[in-house]
Amino acid sequence: MKTMIAQSLKHLQDELPDGVKLVAVSKFHPVERLMEAYNAGQRIFAESRPQELAAKVPQMPSDVRWHFIGHLQTNKLKLVLPYVSLVQSVDSLHLLQAISAWAVANEKPVNVLLEMHLGAEETKQGLSEEEILDLLEKPAPEGVRICGLMGMATNTDDQALIEGDFKRIEALFKGLRAKNLPFFDELSIGMSHDWRLAIRHSATMVRIGTDIFGPREY
Ligand SMILES: *Cc1c(COP(=O)(O)O)cnc(C)c1O
Repeated sequence: MKTMIAQSLKHLQDELPDGVKLVAVSKFHPVERLMEAYNAGQRIFAESRPQELAAKVPQMPSDVRWHFIGHLQTNKLKLVLPYVSLVQSVDSLHLLQAISAWAVANEKPVNVLLEMHLGAEETKQGLSEEEILDLLEKPAPEGVRICGLMGMATNTDDQALIEGDFKRIEALFKGLRAKNLPFFDELSIGMSHDWRLAIRHSATMVRIGTDIFGPREY
């Protein structure tokens, strides 16, 4: 018998176009639930808190690919960078430079996405379009591969507002990809409530928590 999590994953996989990666956002959920997703074939998991990530990694099989999607403080890099295949949430030049220093010191290249600030919310997390353009004018800092952009749309039921956000990041993504920057290939947009819209706006990766695991317990 299929578990609820396995059924949700199956529905999502059936509906996602080929080539769009499904990132299972497992923050706040216990490892037993992650294992249900793993046993149903899911391999990419994302966490948003360094301690929680570091605690879960040794409890999960070693072929899991971990992404980090939360705000990352530079004093927490060692809890995150040894374990992840992608940091999706690089939201400042300061963080990018700290990641570079860690990558050089540890001789481990780090894949990142630049997080673009979208949406009307007061939370100012993310880089502006100008900051992203400036940053990509220069070669990436040593040891860092800038693999694309990540964004979170306004948290609203208003489809037009969400679509406006997605259009902005899509335009920037396409403009940058046309420059043939090394590694620059991924657009991570779309969560449980807006991923269908995101794939119409060129998402290559969707980050889905609630639609797989159910509501989070905070
Ligand atoms: C929590 C989170 C998600 C997943 O949100 P759901 O609505 O549960 O799908 C996606 N992206 C980021 C950056 C998150 O923090």
